[in-house]
Amino acid sequence: MKRRNFLQCAGLCGTGGLVGMVPAALAQASAAPDGAVPKKSTPLTIRPYQLLCTVCSLGEEGHEPVRQYERARQIRDALRRNPDVPVTLACHAGALYSFQDSGTGEDTPESDEFNRKRDLDVLQILGLAPGCTLPARALFELLLKGLPTVSGICGYDTVTGEAWKGCPKAAGDNYEKGFEKGVRALISPRTEEEMAREKAKSLQALYAASVVPVRPHILVCAVCQYGEGLRPGYKEDNLPELLDLILNRKPDIGIKMAKGADWMICAPCPGRNPELNCCTHVMGSGDLDSQKRDLDLLQKVGLKFGSTMKARDLYRLIFERITTTHGIPDICIKYNTMPSVWWDECCGHLFQGNPRAKYEKGRRGMMKKLNLARNK
Ligand code: SF4
Ligand code: SF4
Repeated sequence: MKRRNFLQCAGLCGTGGLVGMVPAALAQASAAPDGAVPKKSTPLTIRPYQLLCTVCSLGEEGHEPVRQYERARQIRDALRRNPDVPVTLACHAGALYSFQDSGTGEDTPESDEFNRKRDLDVLQILGLAPGCTLPARALFELLLKGLPTVSGICGYDTVTGEAWKGCPKAAGDNYEKGFEKGVRALISPRTEEEMAREKAKSLQALYAASVVPVRPHILVCAVCQYGEGLRPGYKEDNLPELLDLILNRKPDIGIKMAKGADWMICAPCPGRNPELNCCTHVMGSGDLDSQKRDLDLLQKVGLKFGSTMKARDLYRLIFERITTTHGIPDICIKYNTMPSVWWDECCGHLFQGNPRAKYEKGRRGMMKKLNLARNK
C-alpha cells in the first residue's frame, strides 16, 4: 500500500503484562525469522547512464542491435531475478572520486567528454554521489519519477561540436516510451492472487495467535487508519483486523515488537518483499524509513525489539506518550527534501496536517473503546 494508507494502517508500543511465546508454526510462517540477518547480495556495478539505457530499451520496437541495449537487457534480467539487487553507480568523476572510478570500458562510442557529462548529469538530477549504492527498485523508482526525457542529456537540440553529437537513439523517443511504461515494466508487482492467499493465511494465524508480532511503528499507523474509518476487509495489510480483535474481542492479546515487515500483519501488502521480510514501499526505500520510525517509537515508549505487552496496556502507553503525530519530528513528521531515501508522503510539509487529524481522531475513539479515556 502507499505510505499514506500505510500510516493509516501501520505502528509504535509500551510496558505491561508479559504473555506467551509465539507458537513455532507462526514463527515458521514469517519469511525471515524475527531479527534474522538476510544474506548479503553482491552489488551490480553499472554506469549512471545505463539506468537511462535500461528504460530506453523498454521503448525499443525495431529490436536493432544497439550496444547500450545489450547491457540494458542484462540489467533488466538482473532486476527480474532480484528487484532489490543493490546497484552501484560508478563513473569517471575526477580525482576526489577516483575510489569508485569505472574506467572507460563501458563508454559508448561518443566522446570521453560526452560520456562523462552524461553520467554526471544523471547523478546530479537524481541527487546522488558517484559510487553510491542503492537497491535497484529505489533507483528506478527515483529515475522514473524525476527524469521524463533524455533530451539535453543523451543528445542536444544543437550540436555544438564533434564531441557533442550525442547518442543516435536520443533523437527517437524510445526513452520517453519506456518512461511512460513505468517501473512495472521493469519490476513485476506481487500478484493479486498471491496477496489474497497471504491475506487469508495470515488472518488465520492472527486469529489463532496468543502473541502477535508487529513492526512497532505500524501500531501508530493503525490508529490513523482507525481514525479515518478503515475497518476489516482492507486488502493491503491486517491492521484493521488486529485493531478489531483488540477493541472487540481480545484486549489482552500479546503484541510483540518485531523487526522488519513481519508476516502476520504485513503479509498481504503490495510493498512487502517476502524473501527479505522487508518493506519496499515509498519508492523502494520504505524499509529504511520504516526502521527509523520503529526505533523512534521504541525510544518514545521505552521498549525494545522483542518486548511483548498486552495490547490494551501497550495502547495505553502509546496514547500517553504520543498524543499527536503533528510537530513531533521524531515520529511521523520529518522534513526531508525530495528526492531522498528518507522522504515519504506522511513526513513532508504537504501532508503534515493530514495524519495528525486522523491519528487524533483514532486515538480518541480507541481510548473510549478500551476504557482508557480517564487517563487523558
Ligand atoms: S538515448 Fe542512447 S544513451 Fe540515452 S538512454 Fe537511449 S540508448 Fe542510452
Ligand atoms: S510492508 Fe508492512 S510496513 Fe511496509 S507498507 Fe506494507 S504494511 Fe506497512
